[in-house]
Amino acid sequence: MTSSSSVSTLVEQLIRDDIRALQAYPVGDASGMVKLDAMENPYHWPEEMVSQWQQLLAECALNRYPHPKAPEVVEGLRRMMNVPEQYEVLLGNGSDEIIQLLAMAVANPGATILAPEPGFVMYRMIATFIGLNYVGVTLNEDFSLDTPAMLSAIEEHKPALVFLAQPNNPTGNLWAEEDLHQIVQAMNTDSHTGLVVMDEAYLPFSCRDHLSWLDQYPHILVMRTLSKVGLAGLRLGFIIGRPEWLNELDKVRMPYNINVLTQASAAFALEHYSVLEQQCQTLCDQRTRLYQALEALGLEPFESQANFILTRIPATSQTTARALFEALKEQKILVKCLDGGHPLLKECLRFTVGSEDENSQLLAALTRILHA
Ligand code: PMP
Repeated sequence: MTSSSSVSTLVEQLIRDDIRALQAYPVGDASGMVKLDAMENPYHWPEEMVSQWQQLLAECALNRYPHPKAPEVVEGLRRMMNVPEQYEVLLGNGSDEIIQLLAMAVANPGATILAPEPGFVMYRMIATFIGLNYVGVTLNEDFSLDTPAMLSAIEEHKPALVFLAQPNNPTGNLWAEEDLHQIVQAMNTDSHTGLVVMDEAYLPFSCRDHLSWLDQYPHILVMRTLSKVGLAGLRLGFIIGRPEWLNELDKVRMPYNINVLTQASAAFALEHYSVLEQQCQTLCDQRTRLYQALEALGLEPFESQANFILTRIPATSQTTARALFEALKEQKILVKCLDGGHPLLKECLRFTVGSEDENSQLLAALTRILHA
């Protein structure tokens, strides 16, 4: 006999309530748009580099499983990032996957993940997927860390895992080193021990890295990605740290998580890393230009160490963040509207820094809209 239950009843019975209550991660349709919403590098590779790469791809054995450890990629990363010999590198399908591996590995019943907010939304989402508690600690108004609030939240919730994104997304700033040290230290005391992950996704645009903190603290890991440097489509994130931690994370990693094409492409790109670094330098110059132009337009950009600029639409303006977002979209420019996402992001848009031409298009559109 067939069941009379409708599919939606079956779904309701079977799928966890907290999963059914979620919204999928929103990714807007960007076809035909100037895409300044997702912190991608807008530049392509020189033609000669593209043909060398295509040659390599043509030789990839798609019929074979990839090497489970992607040794050439790991070697390239160690070389380009100057990873000291005593630390290991573990690869993920984007750093998103690494966040998931970390969460799975610490998921004892009742375990908590903690991060400052506004921050990268996947920390909260992945905690929910895995059934962990999540605690967000609000930053100060100027987006600096509220260290007393962080310390008391650590004492109260005893998080297994703290994420500190440096630079932070979506605010773009670095936090005071002294504050970071205090938080890291509070995660390894007589009364509580947990893991701290420094998320350096925007390192290519920043003046500070935390790799040397691995020497100072046994309970810290440094997570990075190739996405922002120009390889978002490849999906390659990685985490650097002591073998004792990474050996455990490796057990929850799917054995073939880095596919053949990604392995070949990433190893190749790392051999030509200076091309990507130069593109990032150009983006840093464009960031200065964009910041000054946004200010000149009467908007309130926040200083950024990343490849995006969070910008508040002042109360005195004729428009709102939402209206400006929609008007830009009509002019085929896609940015990110953050208004409504967190009280500190009221009337805020986030502009990814694009190529010189894309930024000119953005500024021209903003000028038209604001001076209409
Ligand atoms: N960390 C931060 C702070 C991010 O902003 C992002 C992407 N927006 C990621 C990690 C994930 O990057 P990916 O999965 O592309 O490596």
